[in-house]
Amino acid sequence: MKEKTKIDYTKPDITPEKSFDPFLESLMQFEKAANFLDLEPWIYKRLKYPEREITVHVTITLDNGHAESFTGFRVQHSTIRGPAKGGIRYSPDASLNECKALASWMTWKCAVVNIPFGGGKGAVICNPLKLSENELRKLTKEYTLAIRDLIGPFKDIPAPDMFTNEQTMAWIAEAYSQTQGYLEPAVVTGKPVYLGGSLGRKEATGTGLFFVLEEAAKYLKITLEGKKVAILGFGNVGSSIAKLVHKAGCRIIAVTDMFGGIYNEKGIDPIALAQYVVQTGSVTNFPDCDPIDNETLIALPCDILIPAAIEGQINKSNAAQVKAKIILEGANGPTTTEADEILNENQVFVLPDILANAGGVTVSYLEWVQDLQRYFFSEEEVLKKTETIMKQAFWDVVKIMTENKVSMREAAYILAVDRVAQALRALGRGV
Ligand code: GLU
Repeated sequence: MKEKTKIDYTKPDITPEKSFDPFLESLMQFEKAANFLDLEPWIYKRLKYPEREITVHVTITLDNGHAESFTGFRVQHSTIRGPAKGGIRYSPDASLNECKALASWMTWKCAVVNIPFGGGKGAVICNPLKLSENELRKLTKEYTLAIRDLIGPFKDIPAPDMFTNEQTMAWIAEAYSQTQGYLEPAVVTGKPVYLGGSLGRKEATGTGLFFVLEEAAKYLKITLEGKKVAILGFGNVGSSIAKLVHKAGCRIIAVTDMFGGIYNEKGIDPIALAQYVVQTGSVTNFPDCDPIDNETLIALPCDILIPAAIEGQINKSNAAQVKAKIILEGANGPTTTEADEILNENQVFVLPDILANAGGVTVSYLEWVQDLQRYFFSEEEVLKKTETIMKQAFWDVVKIMTENKVSMREAAYILAVDRVAQALRALGRGV
């Protein structure tokens, strides 16, 4: 008889890097699904840890003439269903364990929406707000050269994440293409449209979040019109979903970013706010609003709470205060496992990150397909294909949730881990 996995997911065998360790969180989520699926130990072990993790140190000369070294990472959690896929973030708080968590979440995310990618993630420890455009360009090119053997259109395909954007992707494409001797746009996604990027990619994570929210409203038999929304984070993801929920008739009553936050019970116009942020760099002091902090925002009486910033913001210290009926996870890993249990008890409907925010990587997939074919889709085609993929994923997850009486997150993990496990079982690598 086959030896089966029996894991106590409350005691993962890794040492946390900090008091909040995203990799530990990701393992606990994976292990619940592994237990449910009763995975063979060789599959469980193979999927638990990343396939590859690399740390690099790159040096550039700053504008002031001083040399500075930066530490970067690239983690490939899985290449079982296809090339590793996932963003690169620039952040002072980046760490290897954070990348490991984010890379594994990419594996599960790509599997939930059933696109032929594995999962990867990269980061450079830096404060992007303190670096000039010229310094960021040099840093990006050096980092790309340092990981050039790992990446490639059929190996590992980076994309934007926190504090990286289409310009960063263009620099990566340039540095990588230099090593090949020809332009290879398919090595990254999220590029400028005039360089092989896809129409609709910039807003794609917000677009996908909205598709999932629309389906959730149908499932819950509610309308979005008039619903009160609070948003943590107003970067690419937060601002895109803000515009869409506003258009659907929701009232955005609070928004925070890394500098502070704003509250207005009567509603905040996200289009005017986005213009204000372009000018001032932050949502703080937006006219006709009162200041608010993250913890107060999380506890606000509202219908939909959208965490669209960093990991771990909804945790055991504030989860019981959540009054929203729906949490739409725009960020990766915004809710800790302990918080999840409290939210489940309180019957908060959580639309989990690996499903809800998969619109970004879904359009990345369409971008990659277009680049490989050198044949480009209209924006309508991109939107239609994204809608079909995201809505299918939503109902696939709902089916598992209702059949097995598990949470939406557990159902998404069960679907994802099962898809990757099936591929691995068929390949037979590791048995
Ligand atoms: N950084 C985004 C995410 O976390 C997009 C990744 C991609 O497009 O590869 O989903």
